[in-house]
Amino acid sequence: SFSTSHSRRSVIIHAGHVQSLNESTNALVSFSTETHNLNFHGPLSNLTVAIKDNICTMHLPTTCSSGMLRGMSNSVPRSRSNSITEFTSPFDATAVEFLKAGGANIIGKANCDEFGMGSLNVNSIHGPVVNPYQSPNEKSVPWAERERRSAGGSSGGSAAAVAAGMCDAALGTDTGGSVRLPASYCGITGLKPSYGLISRSVTFQLIFQKLMDSRWGVVSFADSLDCVGVLGKSVDTVKTVFDSISSYDPKDPTAAAPRTRDRAKASAESLLSTLDVNSSSPDLSSLRIGIPQEYFPFELNTTIVTAVRKVLERLSSLGAQLIPVSLPSTPYALSAYYVIATAEASSNLARYDGVQYGTRSPLLPGADKSKPDNVYAHTRSAGFGAEVRKRILLGTYALTADAFDNYFLQAQRVRQRIKTDFNSNFRIPNAQLSDPSPNPDGVDILLHPSAIRTAPRLDSDAISGLGPYLQDVMTAPASLAGLPAVSVPAGLAADGWPVGVSIVGQWGSDELVLCIGNVIE
Ligand code: GLN
Repeated sequence: SFSTSHSRRSVIIHAGHVQSLNESTNALVSFSTETHNLNFHGPLSNLTVAIKDNICTMHLPTTCSSGMLRGMSNSVPRSRSNSITEFTSPFDATAVEFLKAGGANIIGKANCDEFGMGSLNVNSIHGPVVNPYQSPNEKSVPWAERERRSAGGSSGGSAAAVAAGMCDAALGTDTGGSVRLPASYCGITGLKPSYGLISRSVTFQLIFQKLMDSRWGVVSFADSLDCVGVLGKSVDTVKTVFDSISSYDPKDPTAAAPRTRDRAKASAESLLSTLDVNSSSPDLSSLRIGIPQEYFPFELNTTIVTAVRKVLERLSSLGAQLIPVSLPSTPYALSAYYVIATAEASSNLARYDGVQYGTRSPLLPGADKSKPDNVYAHTRSAGFGAEVRKRILLGTYALTADAFDNYFLQAQRVRQRIKTDFNSNFRIPNAQLSDPSPNPDGVDILLHPSAIRTAPRLDSDAISGLGPYLQDVMTAPASLAGLPAVSVPAGLAADGWPVGVSIVGQWGSDELVLCIGNVIE
């Protein structure tokens, strides 16, 4: 173990304890051996944090849970096996820089689905993550005999590390639900911020073009959707980390401009000032909460509805007004999400060709070395896992001339409708629009279950077929609209496993959704 201590607080990271918890969860894929803490008095100096392994760190490899980044130049031997070398970034993502500047103690990198593609953290070269939650029915059962359930994905390692007590908080990424879903399955809090509030987006090209100082971040999956998110045991911890890493970054071209941020913040704050959220019996009488009817589909487990109803009763007893609303384009969100996400992924992942980036695979005996196509095909077949290959094919198809209008364009139309649905239901204006025309009779936040079920067993049918894709049905709409959404624990379902509820706000209302999350918690 190693420790850092200073006059006011002292943080001790018990490396041995973390590693033994890791044996049962497989949550972390590499471990820090020193603290790299730049600020012993910073707001994060009493926190230990894990970083999803698709976020660049200088002191630890970044694998994206893929075989593709092995053996790239800049690789260092992996701690677990000297024969494998992993890509290590020459710079830290901006979010990591902010964590370090705030004094956070980074304990290691967290397992995830390959390049963020998945809902159950089973698509990983490091193997699946096991949910550390202990259901009350199994309290006296030894770990080895308990049900092995998924921790959710794609930020499953981040969620499991927090839930198992290996760290206080973790960074994840959320493209279509990858922070909220694992948070819900593991019984912790997970925030997907408004799109553009936390710096993301890096392309490996930039490393080699020596533009390292102009852009920092996260390995791209689907740029128009990718957000860095925060997971933690309490809403308070999530808020502390979020406050430290949410800042305008001129290096990220998709970062929201300071003026837009300020406008959004002002609207959310003026609403917050009418609420009393900090006392032991909060007064929410000016809060209008929308319950979207489309978020209670037939696939939804009924005992989840019971848990959500309890949360609503509690909020209503604090004075909040509960208003049924309709977001009619919701049923199309999942299909639109998978067209857009795969299309963008097929373009983003084109760079791993074994020539510029990615591990080049040796050609089969007899293959014609003079044909570059052979090199690309071999490299991409050997380096990418099955799910990533499937998505590249689907995305490439959606972008072909024949399919473009019916798939990609159609999905963009659906995305626009989904945005309009949200905007016409909120009474807070969307600060990103020049003519926002908010609905004066609208709601301030929306509340719905985070997932249609509790964590599936790792040995069940739910982890294959269409099951994993269905898990995102509740989370994809807020991703398509770029809205802030937090999943907080809301009791247990009939099987004794955690249920999460999500609070979704207008763009830039991150503080508002966290405040209401805090009340629910
Ligand atoms: N489960 C979704 C997918 O597989 C979302 C993943 C994510 O948010 N990174 O694409």
